[in-house]
Amino acid sequence: MNADAFVVGAGPNGLAGAVTLAQAGLTVTVLEAADTIGGGTRSGELTVPGLLHDHCAAVHPMALASPYLRTLDLERHGLRWGYAATDLAHPLDGGRTAVLHRDLAVTVRNLGADGPAWQRLFAPLTTRFDALADDLMRPLARGPRHPVLTGKFALLAAPSALRTVRRWQTEAARALFAGTAAHAMRPLTGTAGSAIGLMLTAAAHRHGWPVARGGSRAITDALAARLIELGGTIETRSPVHSLRDLPPARTVLLDLTPRAAAAVCGARLPAPVRRAYTRYRHGPAAYKIDLAVEGGIPWSAEVCRSAGTVHLGGTAEQIADAEQAVASGRMPRRPFVLVCQQYVADPARSVGDTHPVWAYAHVPHGYDGDATDAILDRIEQYAPKVRDHVIALTARSPTDLEAYNPNYIGGDILTGANSPAQTAFRPRLASDPYATGIPGIYLCSAATPPGAGVHGMCGHHAARSALRKLGLAPWAAARRPRHPYISWPTAAAGPRS
Ligand SMILES: Cc1cc2nc3c(=O)[nH]c(=O)nc-3n(C[C@H](O)[C@H](O)[C@H](O)COP(=O)(O)OP(=O)(O)OC[C@H]3O[C@@H](n4cnc5c(N)ncnc54)[C@H](O)[C@@H]3O)c2cc1C
Repeated sequence: MNADAFVVGAGPNGLAGAVTLAQAGLTVTVLEAADTIGGGTRSGELTVPGLLHDHCAAVHPMALASPYLRTLDLERHGLRWGYAATDLAHPLDGGRTAVLHRDLAVTVRNLGADGPAWQRLFAPLTTRFDALADDLMRPLARGPRHPVLTGKFALLAAPSALRTVRRWQTEAARALFAGTAAHAMRPLTGTAGSAIGLMLTAAAHRHGWPVARGGSRAITDALAARLIELGGTIETRSPVHSLRDLPPARTVLLDLTPRAAAAVCGARLPAPVRRAYTRYRHGPAAYKIDLAVEGGIPWSAEVCRSAGTVHLGGTAEQIADAEQAVASGRMPRRPFVLVCQQYVADPARSVGDTHPVWAYAHVPHGYDGDATDAILDRIEQYAPKVRDHVIALTARSPTDLEAYNPNYIGGDILTGANSPAQTAFRPRLASDPYATGIPGIYLCSAATPPGAGVHGMCGHHAARSALRKLGLAPWAAARRPRHPYISWPTAAAGPRS
Protein backbone atom coordinates (compact mmCIF):
# COMPACT_ATOMS: atom_id res chain seq x y z
CA MET A 1 0.00 0.00 0.00
CA ASN A 2 2.02 2.96 -1.28
CA ALA A 3 0.75 6.43 -2.03
CA ASP A 4 1.83 10.05 -1.86
CA ALA A 5 -1.16 10.78 0.35
CA PHE A 6 -3.55 8.87 2.58
CA VAL A 7 -7.01 10.00 3.56
CA VAL A 8 -8.56 8.35 6.61
CA GLY A 9 -12.34 8.21 6.21
CA ALA A 10 -14.44 8.27 3.05
CA GLY A 11 -17.09 10.78 4.08
CA PRO A 12 -17.84 13.66 1.70
CA ASN A 13 -14.98 15.67 3.23
CA GLY A 14 -12.47 12.84 3.03
CA LEU A 15 -13.36 12.21 -0.60
CA ALA A 16 -13.36 15.90 -1.56
CA GLY A 17 -9.94 16.25 0.08
CA ALA A 18 -8.71 13.17 -1.78
CA VAL A 19 -9.92 14.53 -5.14
CA THR A 20 -8.22 17.89 -4.43
CA LEU A 21 -4.92 16.14 -3.69
CA ALA A 22 -5.25 13.91 -6.75
CA GLN A 23 -6.00 16.93 -8.95
CA ALA A 24 -2.63 18.33 -7.88
CA GLY A 25 -0.91 15.20 -9.11
CA LEU A 26 -0.53 13.18 -5.89
CA THR A 27 -1.33 9.48 -5.80
CA VAL A 28 -4.02 9.11 -3.14
CA THR A 29 -5.40 6.18 -1.18
CA VAL A 30 -8.53 6.57 0.95
CA LEU A 31 -8.92 4.18 3.89
CA GLU A 32 -12.47 3.74 5.13
CA ALA A 33 -13.37 1.77 8.27
CA ALA A 34 -16.88 0.80 7.17
CA ASP A 35 -17.93 -1.70 4.50
CA THR A 36 -19.06 1.10 2.24
CA ILE A 37 -17.89 4.62 1.50
CA GLY A 38 -19.89 7.77 2.10
CA GLY A 39 -19.99 8.37 5.87
CA GLY A 40 -23.07 10.55 6.33
CA THR A 41 -24.20 10.12 2.71
CA ARG A 42 -24.92 6.40 2.58
CA SER A 43 -28.26 5.11 1.28
CA GLY A 44 -29.88 1.69 1.12
CA GLU A 45 -32.78 -0.46 2.25
CA LEU A 46 -33.80 0.04 5.88
CA THR A 47 -37.43 -1.03 6.08
CA VAL A 48 -38.96 -3.16 3.31
CA PRO A 49 -37.20 -4.64 0.26
CA GLY A 50 -36.76 -2.21 -2.60
CA LEU A 51 -37.44 0.97 -0.67
CA LEU A 52 -34.44 3.33 -0.80
CA HIS A 53 -33.67 5.29 2.37
CA ASP A 54 -30.95 7.83 3.11
CA HIS A 55 -29.16 6.62 6.23
CA CYS A 56 -28.15 10.17 7.21
CA ALA A 57 -28.06 13.27 5.01
CA ALA A 58 -31.10 13.75 2.81
CA VAL A 59 -31.39 17.24 1.38
CA HIS A 60 -28.54 19.05 -0.32
CA PRO A 61 -28.62 22.82 -0.60
CA MET A 62 -25.05 22.84 0.72
CA ALA A 63 -23.79 20.52 -2.02
CA LEU A 64 -25.16 22.87 -4.65
CA ALA A 65 -23.78 25.86 -2.77
CA SER A 66 -20.33 24.28 -2.43
CA PRO A 67 -17.80 26.35 -4.37
CA TYR A 68 -15.63 23.22 -4.76
CA LEU A 69 -18.21 20.55 -5.65
CA ARG A 70 -19.58 22.91 -8.28
CA THR A 71 -16.22 22.83 -10.10
CA LEU A 72 -16.18 19.03 -10.31
CA ASP A 73 -18.98 18.41 -12.80
CA LEU A 74 -20.15 15.43 -10.74
CA GLU A 75 -23.08 15.08 -13.14
CA ARG A 76 -20.52 13.51 -15.50
CA HIS A 77 -20.25 10.73 -12.91
CA GLY A 78 -23.96 10.14 -12.66
CA LEU A 79 -25.08 12.69 -10.07
CA ARG A 80 -28.60 14.00 -10.78
CA TRP A 81 -30.63 16.34 -8.61
CA GLY A 82 -34.33 15.95 -7.92
CA TYR A 83 -36.54 18.87 -6.91
CA ALA A 84 -39.80 18.63 -5.02
CA ALA A 85 -42.58 20.99 -6.09
CA THR A 86 -42.31 22.56 -2.62
CA ASP A 87 -38.90 22.80 -0.96
CA LEU A 88 -40.10 23.13 2.61
CA ALA A 89 -43.50 23.16 4.32
CA HIS A 90 -44.05 24.11 7.96
CA PRO A 91 -47.59 23.29 9.11
CA LEU A 92 -49.06 25.19 12.05
CA ASP A 93 -52.08 24.65 14.24
CA GLY A 94 -55.31 25.92 12.73
CA GLY A 95 -54.58 24.69 9.21
CA ARG A 96 -52.10 27.41 8.20
CA THR A 97 -48.89 26.18 6.51
CA ALA A 98 -45.80 28.27 5.84
CA VAL A 99 -44.03 27.40 2.61
CA LEU A 100 -40.46 27.97 1.47
CA HIS A 101 -40.23 27.80 -2.27
CA ARG A 102 -37.13 28.00 -4.45
CA ASP A 103 -38.78 30.86 -6.28
CA LEU A 104 -38.46 33.82 -3.92
CA ALA A 105 -41.46 35.54 -5.51
CA VAL A 106 -43.70 32.53 -4.78
CA THR A 107 -42.52 32.44 -1.16
CA VAL A 108 -43.09 36.17 -0.79
CA ARG A 109 -46.57 35.91 -2.28
CA ASN A 110 -47.52 33.06 0.06
CA LEU A 111 -46.31 34.96 3.12
CA GLY A 112 -48.93 37.67 2.57
CA ALA A 113 -48.38 40.67 4.87
CA ASP A 114 -44.86 39.48 5.72
CA GLY A 115 -43.89 38.94 2.08
CA PRO A 116 -42.26 42.36 1.58
CA ALA A 117 -40.08 41.98 4.71
CA TRP A 118 -39.03 38.51 3.54
CA GLN A 119 -38.20 39.97 0.13
CA ARG A 120 -36.15 42.82 1.65
CA LEU A 121 -34.06 40.41 3.72
CA PHE A 122 -33.56 37.59 1.24
CA ALA A 123 -33.47 39.22 -2.20
CA PRO A 124 -29.95 40.69 -1.74
CA LEU A 125 -28.64 37.51 -0.08
CA THR A 126 -30.07 35.38 -2.87
CA THR A 127 -28.72 37.54 -5.69
CA ARG A 128 -25.19 37.50 -4.24
CA PHE A 129 -25.49 34.00 -2.77
CA ASP A 130 -22.63 32.35 -4.65
CA ALA A 131 -20.16 35.08 -3.65
CA LEU A 132 -21.44 34.88 -0.08
CA ALA A 133 -21.10 31.09 0.00
CA ASP A 134 -17.55 31.46 -1.27
CA ASP A 135 -16.71 33.47 1.87
CA LEU A 136 -18.87 31.65 4.40
CA MET A 137 -17.58 28.26 3.31
CA ARG A 138 -13.93 29.10 3.88
CA PRO A 139 -12.05 29.49 7.15
CA LEU A 140 -12.39 32.86 8.85
CA ALA A 141 -8.62 32.98 9.25
CA ARG A 142 -8.17 33.19 5.47
CA GLY A 143 -10.17 36.42 5.33
CA PRO A 144 -13.18 37.25 3.14
CA ARG A 145 -12.93 37.74 -0.62
CA HIS A 146 -16.05 39.90 -0.56
CA PRO A 147 -15.61 41.91 2.65
CA VAL A 148 -18.51 44.32 2.16
CA LEU A 149 -21.02 41.60 1.34
CA THR A 150 -19.78 39.29 4.09
CA GLY A 151 -19.66 42.17 6.56
CA LYS A 152 -23.34 42.92 5.83
CA PHE A 153 -24.16 39.24 6.28
CA ALA A 154 -22.32 39.21 9.63
CA LEU A 155 -24.49 42.10 10.84
CA LEU A 156 -27.63 40.22 9.84
CA ALA A 157 -26.37 36.99 11.40
CA ALA A 158 -25.32 38.56 14.71
CA PRO A 159 -28.76 38.66 16.41
CA SER A 160 -30.29 35.53 17.85
CA ALA A 161 -32.76 33.69 15.61
CA LEU A 162 -35.58 34.64 17.97
CA ARG A 163 -34.65 38.29 17.52
CA THR A 164 -34.53 37.99 13.74
CA VAL A 165 -38.07 36.56 13.66
CA ARG A 166 -39.26 39.91 15.05
CA ARG A 167 -38.90 41.22 11.49
CA TRP A 168 -42.15 39.41 10.72
CA GLN A 169 -45.65 39.71 12.18
CA THR A 170 -47.30 36.48 11.07
CA GLU A 171 -46.85 33.17 12.83
CA ALA A 172 -46.12 31.57 9.44
CA ALA A 173 -43.09 33.68 8.50
CA ARG A 174 -41.73 33.59 12.03
CA ALA A 175 -42.03 29.80 12.27
CA LEU A 176 -40.58 29.32 8.79
CA PHE A 177 -37.38 31.13 9.72
CA ALA A 178 -37.18 29.62 13.22
CA GLY A 179 -37.43 26.09 11.81
CA THR A 180 -34.61 26.72 9.37
CA ALA A 181 -32.48 28.37 12.07
CA ALA A 182 -33.05 25.30 14.26
CA HIS A 183 -30.84 23.28 11.88
CA ALA A 184 -27.94 24.78 13.89
CA MET A 185 -29.08 22.62 16.85
CA ARG A 186 -28.49 25.36 19.42
CA PRO A 187 -30.81 27.62 21.40
CA LEU A 188 -32.66 30.11 19.20
CA THR A 189 -31.83 32.76 21.80
CA GLY A 190 -28.07 32.42 21.23
CA THR A 191 -25.84 35.18 19.85
CA ALA A 192 -25.14 34.92 16.12
CA GLY A 193 -27.92 32.35 16.00
CA SER A 194 -29.35 33.66 12.73
CA ALA A 195 -26.44 32.64 10.50
CA ILE A 196 -27.57 29.09 9.64
CA GLY A 197 -31.18 30.16 9.07
CA LEU A 198 -30.12 32.98 6.75
CA MET A 199 -27.69 30.78 4.87
CA LEU A 200 -30.07 27.83 4.40
CA THR A 201 -32.96 30.07 3.38
CA ALA A 202 -30.85 32.05 0.90
CA ALA A 203 -29.51 28.72 -0.42
CA ALA A 204 -33.10 27.56 -0.93
CA HIS A 205 -33.93 30.66 -2.96
CA ARG A 206 -30.73 30.37 -5.00
CA HIS A 207 -30.45 26.61 -5.54
CA GLY A 208 -33.46 24.94 -3.92
CA TRP A 209 -33.29 22.12 -1.40
CA PRO A 210 -32.82 19.18 -3.76
CA VAL A 211 -32.23 15.48 -3.15
CA ALA A 212 -29.77 13.30 -5.01
CA ARG A 213 -31.53 10.92 -7.38
CA GLY A 214 -30.76 7.36 -6.35
CA GLY A 215 -30.02 8.45 -2.78
CA SER A 216 -27.47 10.75 -1.14
CA ARG A 217 -24.88 8.06 -1.79
CA ALA A 218 -24.88 9.25 -5.42
CA ILE A 219 -22.92 12.33 -4.28
CA THR A 220 -20.05 10.38 -2.76
CA ASP A 221 -20.24 7.70 -5.47
CA ALA A 222 -19.62 10.50 -7.97
CA LEU A 223 -16.75 11.88 -5.88
CA ALA A 224 -15.25 8.38 -5.67
CA ALA A 225 -15.58 7.95 -9.44
CA ARG A 226 -13.76 11.25 -9.98
CA LEU A 227 -11.01 10.14 -7.58
CA ILE A 228 -10.56 6.82 -9.37
CA GLU A 229 -10.48 8.63 -12.71
CA LEU A 230 -7.55 10.66 -11.32
CA GLY A 231 -5.75 7.44 -10.36
CA GLY A 232 -6.77 7.31 -6.70
CA THR A 233 -7.81 4.18 -4.81
CA ILE A 234 -10.25 3.49 -1.98
CA GLU A 235 -10.02 0.64 0.50
CA THR A 236 -13.05 -0.13 2.65
CA ARG A 237 -12.96 -2.18 5.87
CA SER A 238 -9.67 -0.45 6.62
CA PRO A 239 -9.91 1.29 9.98
CA VAL A 240 -6.91 3.37 10.95
CA HIS A 241 -6.23 3.37 14.68
CA SER A 242 -2.79 4.95 14.67
CA LEU A 243 -0.42 6.76 12.36
CA ARG A 244 1.71 3.66 12.73
CA ASP A 245 -0.88 1.84 10.56
CA LEU A 246 0.19 4.01 7.61
CA PRO A 247 3.27 3.69 5.41
CA PRO A 248 5.40 6.83 4.88
CA ALA A 249 3.62 9.37 2.72
CA ARG A 250 3.83 13.01 1.80
CA THR A 251 0.63 13.93 3.62
CA VAL A 252 -2.36 12.49 5.51
CA LEU A 253 -5.88 13.90 5.87
CA LEU A 254 -8.03 12.69 8.76
CA ASP A 255 -11.81 12.75 8.21
CA LEU A 256 -12.28 12.20 11.95
CA THR A 257 -13.49 13.99 15.05
CA PRO A 258 -10.79 15.92 16.92
CA ARG A 259 -11.00 13.33 19.71
CA ALA A 260 -10.42 10.44 17.28
CA ALA A 261 -7.64 12.38 15.57
CA ALA A 262 -5.92 12.81 18.95
CA ALA A 263 -6.10 9.04 19.47
CA VAL A 264 -4.77 8.29 15.98
CA CYS A 265 -1.94 10.83 16.26
CA GLY A 266 -0.88 9.58 19.70
CA ALA A 267 1.97 11.21 21.57
CA ARG A 268 3.23 13.07 18.49
CA LEU A 269 0.38 15.57 18.74
CA PRO A 270 1.68 18.82 20.30
CA ALA A 271 0.28 19.24 23.82
CA PRO A 272 -1.74 22.44 23.11
CA VAL A 273 -3.39 20.79 20.10
CA ARG A 274 -4.17 17.66 22.12
CA ARG A 275 -5.75 19.85 24.79
CA ALA A 276 -7.87 21.66 22.22
CA TYR A 277 -8.92 18.41 20.51
CA THR A 278 -9.91 16.69 23.74
CA ARG A 279 -11.81 19.78 24.92
CA TYR A 280 -13.67 20.13 21.61
CA ARG A 281 -17.39 20.11 22.44
CA HIS A 282 -20.07 17.97 20.87
CA GLY A 283 -23.64 19.19 20.68
CA PRO A 284 -27.20 17.85 20.85
CA ALA A 285 -28.15 14.66 19.08
CA ALA A 286 -30.55 13.33 16.50
CA TYR A 287 -32.96 10.45 17.06
CA LYS A 288 -33.76 9.14 13.61
CA ILE A 289 -36.55 6.95 12.30
CA ASP A 290 -37.12 5.62 8.79
CA LEU A 291 -40.58 4.60 7.76
CA ALA A 292 -42.22 2.64 5.00
CA VAL A 293 -45.53 4.43 4.53
CA GLU A 294 -48.41 3.03 2.51
CA GLY A 295 -49.81 5.82 0.36
CA GLY A 296 -47.45 8.41 1.91
CA ILE A 297 -48.10 10.49 5.02
CA PRO A 298 -51.74 11.60 5.16
CA TRP A 299 -50.95 15.27 5.81
CA SER A 300 -53.96 17.44 6.50
CA ALA A 301 -52.39 20.28 4.55
CA GLU A 302 -52.24 19.38 0.89
CA VAL A 303 -49.03 21.37 0.34
CA CYS A 304 -47.13 19.09 2.75
CA ARG A 305 -47.72 16.17 0.40
CA SER A 306 -45.62 17.80 -2.31
CA ALA A 307 -42.88 19.02 0.05
CA GLY A 308 -39.38 17.53 0.05
CA THR A 309 -38.91 18.66 3.66
CA VAL A 310 -41.49 19.29 6.37
CA HIS A 311 -40.58 21.02 9.65
CA LEU A 312 -42.71 20.09 12.66
CA GLY A 313 -42.18 22.37 15.61
CA GLY A 314 -45.13 24.72 15.88
CA THR A 315 -44.51 28.42 16.36
CA ALA A 316 -41.11 30.12 16.59
CA GLU A 317 -41.50 30.31 20.37
CA GLN A 318 -42.40 26.61 20.65
CA ILE A 319 -39.36 25.66 18.57
CA ALA A 320 -37.21 27.90 20.77
CA ASP A 321 -38.52 26.18 23.91
CA ALA A 322 -37.83 22.70 22.50
CA GLU A 323 -34.31 23.64 21.37
CA GLN A 324 -33.57 25.26 24.74
CA ALA A 325 -34.62 22.08 26.55
CA VAL A 326 -32.46 19.90 24.29
CA ALA A 327 -29.44 22.17 24.78
CA SER A 328 -29.97 21.93 28.56
CA GLY A 329 -29.99 18.14 28.40
CA ARG A 330 -33.77 17.71 28.82
CA MET A 331 -35.91 15.77 26.37
CA PRO A 332 -38.84 18.01 25.36
CA ARG A 333 -42.29 16.45 25.29
CA ARG A 334 -42.72 17.87 21.80
CA PRO A 335 -39.31 17.97 20.12
CA PHE A 336 -38.50 19.76 16.88
CA VAL A 337 -38.87 17.16 14.11
CA LEU A 338 -37.63 17.23 10.51
CA VAL A 339 -39.36 15.00 7.97
CA CYS A 340 -38.03 14.32 4.46
CA GLN A 341 -40.04 12.80 1.65
CA GLN A 342 -37.24 12.40 -0.90
CA TYR A 343 -39.45 10.20 -3.07
CA VAL A 344 -41.51 13.26 -4.00
CA ALA A 345 -38.46 14.46 -5.96
CA ASP A 346 -37.12 11.00 -6.78
CA PRO A 347 -40.06 8.62 -7.29
CA ALA A 348 -37.79 5.64 -8.05
CA ARG A 349 -37.12 5.35 -4.31
CA SER A 350 -40.63 4.00 -3.72
CA VAL A 351 -42.13 0.59 -4.43
CA GLY A 352 -45.61 0.98 -5.88
CA ASP A 353 -47.60 3.06 -3.41
CA THR A 354 -45.23 2.39 -0.50
CA HIS A 355 -42.92 5.30 0.15
CA PRO A 356 -39.74 5.77 2.21
CA VAL A 357 -39.99 8.58 4.77
CA TRP A 358 -37.05 9.95 6.79
CA ALA A 359 -37.48 11.79 10.06
CA TYR A 360 -35.46 12.83 13.04
CA ALA A 361 -35.99 14.72 16.25
CA HIS A 362 -33.52 16.96 18.05
CA VAL A 363 -32.80 15.27 21.38
CA PRO A 364 -30.20 15.87 24.12
CA HIS A 365 -26.62 14.75 23.56
CA GLY A 366 -26.34 11.02 24.26
CA TYR A 367 -30.11 10.71 24.94
CA ASP A 368 -30.78 7.08 25.88
CA GLY A 369 -34.59 7.04 25.78
CA ASP A 370 -36.87 6.04 22.91
CA ALA A 371 -38.07 9.06 20.91
CA THR A 372 -39.99 7.05 18.30
CA ASP A 373 -43.42 7.87 19.73
CA ALA A 374 -42.52 11.52 20.25
CA ILE A 375 -41.67 11.74 16.53
CA LEU A 376 -44.80 9.88 15.43
CA ASP A 377 -46.95 12.02 17.75
CA ARG A 378 -45.48 15.13 16.16
CA ILE A 379 -46.29 13.82 12.68
CA GLU A 380 -49.76 12.74 13.80
CA GLN A 381 -50.45 16.29 15.00
CA TYR A 382 -50.49 17.35 11.32
CA ALA A 383 -51.32 13.97 9.73
CA PRO A 384 -54.06 12.21 11.71
CA LYS A 385 -53.93 8.40 11.72
CA VAL A 386 -50.42 8.33 10.23
CA ARG A 387 -49.62 5.24 12.30
CA ASP A 388 -52.24 3.30 10.29
CA HIS A 389 -50.16 3.93 7.16
CA VAL A 390 -46.77 2.86 8.58
CA ILE A 391 -45.99 -0.69 7.52
CA ALA A 392 -42.39 -0.83 8.72
CA LEU A 393 -40.11 1.34 10.84
CA THR A 394 -36.48 1.36 11.93
CA ALA A 395 -35.11 3.65 14.62
CA ARG A 396 -31.60 4.89 15.35
CA SER A 397 -30.87 6.39 18.77
CA PRO A 398 -27.88 8.69 19.38
CA THR A 399 -25.92 5.63 20.53
CA ASP A 400 -26.87 3.74 17.36
CA LEU A 401 -25.79 6.72 15.26
CA GLU A 402 -22.39 6.79 16.94
CA ALA A 403 -22.03 3.02 16.44
CA TYR A 404 -22.95 3.52 12.78
CA ASN A 405 -20.38 6.28 12.33
CA PRO A 406 -17.85 7.15 15.06
CA ASN A 407 -17.86 10.77 13.85
CA TYR A 408 -21.33 11.22 15.43
CA ILE A 409 -20.23 11.27 19.07
CA GLY A 410 -23.26 11.04 21.38
CA GLY A 411 -25.49 11.29 18.30
CA ASP A 412 -24.12 14.75 17.39
CA ILE A 413 -24.73 14.69 13.64
CA LEU A 414 -22.99 18.07 13.15
CA THR A 415 -19.57 16.77 14.34
CA GLY A 416 -19.34 19.49 16.96
CA ALA A 417 -21.48 21.95 18.87
CA ASN A 418 -22.35 25.11 16.97
CA SER A 419 -21.49 27.57 19.73
CA PRO A 420 -20.43 30.95 18.29
CA ALA A 421 -16.77 30.37 19.20
CA GLN A 422 -16.71 26.82 17.87
CA THR A 423 -18.53 27.82 14.70
CA ALA A 424 -15.98 30.54 13.96
CA PHE A 425 -12.88 28.71 15.15
CA ARG A 426 -13.30 24.98 14.88
CA PRO A 427 -11.60 22.77 15.92
CA ARG A 428 -9.31 25.31 17.64
CA LEU A 429 -8.11 28.88 17.34
CA ALA A 430 -5.29 28.67 14.79
CA SER A 431 -4.11 30.43 11.64
CA ASP A 432 -4.51 27.06 9.88
CA PRO A 433 -7.43 25.25 11.53
CA TYR A 434 -6.73 22.10 9.47
CA ALA A 435 -3.12 21.68 10.67
CA THR A 436 -2.68 19.23 13.53
CA GLY A 437 0.77 20.51 14.43
CA ILE A 438 2.34 17.29 13.12
CA PRO A 439 4.03 18.10 9.81
CA GLY A 440 2.04 16.66 6.91
CA ILE A 441 -1.04 15.66 8.94
CA TYR A 442 -4.33 17.53 8.65
CA LEU A 443 -7.83 17.25 10.05
CA CYS A 444 -10.45 17.46 7.28
CA SER A 445 -13.80 16.46 8.81
CA ALA A 446 -16.87 18.59 9.54
CA ALA A 447 -15.14 19.48 12.82
CA THR A 448 -13.16 22.00 10.72
CA PRO A 449 -14.47 25.08 8.85
CA PRO A 450 -17.04 25.52 7.45
CA GLY A 451 -18.63 22.75 9.56
CA ALA A 452 -21.35 20.19 8.96
CA GLY A 453 -23.15 19.48 5.72
CA VAL A 454 -22.50 17.61 2.52
CA HIS A 455 -20.36 20.19 0.73
CA GLY A 456 -16.84 18.76 0.87
CA MET A 457 -15.36 22.18 1.69
CA CYS A 458 -13.63 21.01 4.90
CA GLY A 459 -11.81 18.32 2.95
CA HIS A 460 -11.00 20.64 0.07
CA HIS A 461 -9.55 23.36 2.32
CA ALA A 462 -7.56 20.83 4.36
CA ALA A 463 -6.10 19.45 1.12
CA ARG A 464 -5.20 22.97 0.02
CA SER A 465 -3.37 23.49 3.32
CA ALA A 466 -1.44 20.29 2.71
CA LEU A 467 -0.62 21.23 -0.88
CA ARG A 468 0.48 24.71 0.12
CA LYS A 469 2.87 23.23 2.65
CA LEU A 470 4.20 20.82 0.00
CA GLY A 471 4.72 23.72 -2.37
CA LEU A 472 2.16 22.33 -4.79
CA ALA A 473 -0.43 24.68 -6.21
CA PRO A 474 -3.80 22.89 -5.91
CA TRP A 475 -4.80 24.04 -9.37
CA ALA A 476 -1.68 22.48 -11.02
CA ALA A 477 -3.58 19.39 -12.15
CA ALA A 478 -1.63 16.27 -13.05
CA ARG A 479 1.71 17.76 -11.97
CA ARG A 480 3.94 15.23 -10.29
CA PRO A 481 5.40 16.17 -6.89
CA ARG A 482 9.01 17.28 -6.91
CA HIS A 483 9.59 16.86 -3.18
CA PRO A 484 10.79 13.74 -1.40
CA TYR A 485 8.53 11.76 0.90
CA ILE A 486 8.20 12.93 4.48
CA SER A 487 8.22 9.90 6.70
CA TRP A 488 6.81 9.76 10.21
CA PRO A 489 7.22 6.94 12.69
CA THR A 490 5.32 3.87 11.50
CA ALA A 491 5.03 0.32 12.78
CA ALA A 492 8.07 -0.53 10.67
CA ALA A 493 10.11 2.60 11.31
CA GLY A 494 10.16 4.57 14.51
CA PRO A 495 9.08 4.57 18.12
CA ARG A 496 5.60 3.43 19.04
CA SER A 497 3.57 6.03 20.86
C1 LIG B 1 -29.18 11.80 10.48
C2 LIG B 1 -28.35 12.81 9.73
C3 LIG B 1 -28.97 13.70 8.87
C4 LIG B 1 -28.23 14.64 8.16
N1 LIG B 1 -28.86 15.43 7.25
C5 LIG B 1 -28.13 16.22 6.43
C6 LIG B 1 -28.72 16.83 5.32
O1 LIG B 1 -29.91 16.63 5.04
N2 LIG B 1 -27.95 17.64 4.53
C7 LIG B 1 -26.62 17.84 4.80
O2 LIG B 1 -25.95 18.58 4.05
N3 LIG B 1 -26.01 17.22 5.85
C8 LIG B 1 -26.73 16.42 6.64
N4 LIG B 1 -26.12 15.72 7.67
C9 LIG B 1 -24.72 16.02 8.01
C10 LIG B 1 -23.72 15.40 7.03
O3 LIG B 1 -24.04 14.06 6.78
C11 LIG B 1 -22.32 15.49 7.63
O4 LIG B 1 -22.05 16.82 8.04
C12 LIG B 1 -21.26 15.04 6.64
O5 LIG B 1 -21.46 13.70 6.26
C13 LIG B 1 -19.88 15.19 7.26
O6 LIG B 1 -18.94 14.69 6.36
P1 LIG B 1 -17.50 14.19 6.85
O7 LIG B 1 -16.80 13.73 5.65
O8 LIG B 1 -16.90 15.25 7.70
O9 LIG B 1 -17.78 12.99 7.87
P2 LIG B 1 -18.63 11.67 7.74
O10 LIG B 1 -19.62 11.77 6.66
O11 LIG B 1 -19.11 11.38 9.11
O12 LIG B 1 -17.57 10.58 7.29
C14 LIG B 1 -16.52 10.14 8.13
C15 LIG B 1 -16.06 8.79 7.60
O13 LIG B 1 -14.88 8.40 8.31
C16 LIG B 1 -14.99 7.02 8.61
N5 LIG B 1 -14.11 6.75 9.75
C17 LIG B 1 -14.29 7.15 11.03
N6 LIG B 1 -13.28 6.70 11.80
C18 LIG B 1 -12.43 6.04 10.98
C19 LIG B 1 -11.18 5.38 11.18
N7 LIG B 1 -10.59 5.33 12.38
N8 LIG B 1 -10.57 4.79 10.11
C20 LIG B 1 -11.13 4.84 8.88
N9 LIG B 1 -12.32 5.45 8.64
C21 LIG B 1 -12.96 6.06 9.67
C22 LIG B 1 -16.45 6.82 8.91
O14 LIG B 1 -16.82 5.44 8.79
C23 LIG B 1 -17.08 7.69 7.82
O15 LIG B 1 -17.28 6.98 6.62
C24 LIG B 1 -26.82 14.73 8.36
C25 LIG B 1 -26.19 13.82 9.22
C26 LIG B 1 -26.94 12.85 9.87
C27 LIG B 1 -26.24 11.82 10.72
